[in-house]
Parts: sequence; C-alpha cells; structure tokens
Amino acid sequence: ATPAATMVGSTIAARNGVLFEGGDVLERVREVDAVVFDKTGTLTEGEMRLTDVEAIGGAARADGGAVAEPAPEESFVLSVAASAESGSEHPLAEAIVRGADERGLELADVTSFENVPGKGIEATTDHGDVLVGNRALLTANGVDPDPADGTMARLEREGKTAMLVALDGAVVGVVAAADTVKESAKATVSDLTGRGYDVFMLTGDNARTAAAVAEAVGIDDGNVRSEVLPDGKADVVDSIQADGTRAMMVGDGVNDAPALTAAHIGVAIGSGTDVAMEAADVTLMRSDPADVLKAIRISRATISKVR
Ligand code: ADP
Ligand code: MG
Repeated sequence: ATPAATMVGSTIAARNGVLFEGGDVLERVREVDAVVFDKTGTLTEGEMRLTDVEAIGGAARADGGAVAEPAPEESFVLSVAASAESGSEHPLAEAIVRGADERGLELADVTSFENVPGKGIEATTDHGDVLVGNRALLTANGVDPDPADGTMARLEREGKTAMLVALDGAVVGVVAAADTVKESAKATVSDLTGRGYDVFMLTGDNARTAAAVAEAVGIDDGNVRSEVLPDGKADVVDSIQADGTRAMMVGDGVNDAPALTAAHIGVAIGSGTDVAMEAADVTLMRSDPADVLKAIRISRATISKVR
C-alpha cells in the first residue's frame, strides 16, 4: 500500500479502537489464514465467580493410607481454599476469596505461599499444608487426585474450572469457578469460519472445560488445545504454523506474550496487560473479539485501494 493509503487505514482503524503497530502490520494482517484465540479473557470475560463447593471424604493419603473421617463441611473446604489463595492475584483465586467473603467465612493466617504457574498454589496456613489447583499440581506433590474424579468430571462438563483442594496430603474437596462467554464470541467465530479462516482455541484449562467452552462458541473439537502450560503457548502457535499456516494469535495475558510474538500477527485484546500489548502487532482497545474481523477488513480494504 502507498504510505497515504496506510495512513488512512490506520486512522480509520484507530477510530474503531484497532491500533496497528506500524504500516507493515496493516499489510501483514491480510496474509493470515488462521486465528488462534486464548480462552480466558479473550473469548470469555475473564471474570470468574465461584459456582460450587464440594466436600470429598475418605480420600487416600499421600502415604497410601486411607482417611477414615467423614467428609468435611463445605464451608471448611471453602475456608481452607480461600485462606491459601488470599495472597494470589489469579482470577481463579480472586473468585474463591470473594466467594468465601460473600459467605462470611473467616480466613486462616498464611505463613508461606507459592504460586505454581499453570497449576495452582501451595500454601502453609493455620489449617495445615494446602494445595489448590489442578491434577498436575496434586500429582507433583504426591497427593492422589482420584477420589475427586467424579466430582471434577461433572463440574468440568458444565464448562466450569474445577480445582482440587488438598489439606495435609489428602484431597478434602473441590471448588469450581465459571466465566461468561463474551457476547460477540460465537458470531465472530462463525463469521471467521465462513470466510475460510481456520479458528483455534488455546487454554491452560483442562480438556473437558475447554471442550464445553469451544462448543459454546462454535470452535471445532480438533482445533482445541487445552492444558497448555504458560511456556507452551508459543510452541502451540509454532505447531499450528509448521505447515506454512500464518496464524493470528489473540490473547490478553502476561502468559500470552511469547505466543503473540511467535504468531505471524499477535493481537492483544483490550483489558489485557501491558506485557501483552508490548508483544503485540495489533491492540484491540475494546476487548471485543469482533474487532478481529474489523482489523482484517481494514487491512484488506487498505490493500485493495492500491491495486
Ligand atoms: P489460562 O490459560 O486459562 O489463563 P492458567 O495457565 O492461569 O489458565 O491456569 C491453568 C490451570 O491451572 C487453571 O485452569 C487451574 O486449574 C490451575 N490454576 C492456576 N492458577 C490457579 C490458582 N491460583 N488457584 C487454583 N488453580 C489454579
Ligand atoms: Mg489467560
């Protein structure tokens, strides 16, 4: 495109909340043939709320013995989880702490706390040693997650993010949080698919939750990449691009920055972090997935003007 056409395109885009990081980006956007969406905060609002608290009894202990005592009270499970999560800024942690607060529960003191990216948290509290997170977190700590399998599966099929709560080496319960799919997500996916773009969803969330959300927005099962660790997102983009596909990666989080860089075009969505915006070629100020279409349309229009 001529510098003048590029300037016009960029100005129109900016007025629509679509910021291109330079004129060459405006030209490269139209080369894209696949769009990869991060799930949380991109396709969904990213505002988690606590939906379920379940107590699990008779859990197997890390040392192989069985716990004889009956299942704890649900309020105890929530108090244990919320106390341990009180030092975390993860959206899931905030949902748990808010949920406990709304139920008027007292939180225990925390003496140590560690964040395990993509898995959960480990904390020592007045309740004891606590883990809150996914199966991988428990397994890595020698705690058997199996007693909660049925409960986890049921909640995950509902599209919720279910988290195991372990206390002193045994599962004591499950807490779940859910997010709302953004209003324009489904229409955007079907519009992109209709125009011939291959649409993918990428998430650190487990396979069942991912499948439920993908189904809600109309993304094909085979195009879902779940349980991706923060460091693995760029690798997933690379693998999608391995056959020459040019991917646009749309994400919002700190974790997403390497994936945005790996993609042919990296798009940071609105409410995202500064880190994501720095790594991005395009920023969508309105946090609306439909603006992906706007960016593509403006790019194509700008090009065709000079042809
Ligand atoms: P996403 O890719 O959706 O942003 P993350 O990579 O942050 O997800 O987390 C992946 C998974 O790890 C979550 O679905 C959850 O099971 C677990 N997890 C991460 N952080 C926490 C936390 N603070 N508390 C409980 N579980 C967590
Ligand atoms: Mg995220």
